[in-house]
Amino acid sequence: MGMISTELCEAIIDVAKDFNASGISVGKSGNISARHDNGFVITPSGLAYSELKPLDLIYCDLEGKVLSGEWQPSTEWPFHAAIYKTRNDIHAIVHTHSTYATALACRRQSIPAFHYMVAIAGGNSIDCADYATFGTDTLSENVVNALADKRACLMANHGQIATGDNVDDAYALAHEVESLARQYSICLQTGEPVLLDDVEMQVNLEKFKTYGKQHRLK
Ligand SMILES: [Zn+2]
Repeated sequence: MGMISTELCEAIIDVAKDFNASGISVGKSGNISARHDNGFVITPSGLAYSELKPLDLIYCDLEGKVLSGEWQPSTEWPFHAAIYKTRNDIHAIVHTHSTYATALACRRQSIPAFHYMVAIAGGNSIDCADYATFGTDTLSENVVNALADKRACLMANHGQIATGDNVDDAYALAHEVESLARQYSICLQTGEPVLLDDVEMQVNLEKFKTYGKQHRLK
């Protein structure tokens, strides 16, 4: 791995270890990546997250060519590459088959502005990408389209993708998306929730530009 920073590898491993522990991802599903140099570092295909070590991570270029690492990259590397190619503002990606996000995605349902926290993903809704077989170029295109200029999307009959400035950001957003999907699913059981209008969502989007940037008052 050499030139890849220990911090970057540890950030990915920490999230990988929390995948099963937190319940956001079951078994070996899901994957994590971070932009590095001219490519990205990604989790390997088919290894147990609880046993993952920094040396198990793979460094690929944006065409999926392995530059360092001993394993094959996650079979879902193509959409990671597609996102890094098209979105210079994104530096980390977390993909999970989290239960509620996936349940909505199996109905090919987007998450509308039913709660102001939807704005944390950077838009008025968290949209569901059209279905395509995993690992295909078509799925990559569909994901890039659903993300548009936002930070998260659902994937039809598959799961969700959350992105960020770094791995911790992307992972925190994955949990927010799952929480919103859960709240929205529960709303739908008793009827249609009242949606916030575009004007109010614009206010929320502005507020989220400074959200999480904490500073001491004294
Ligand atoms: Zn997947």
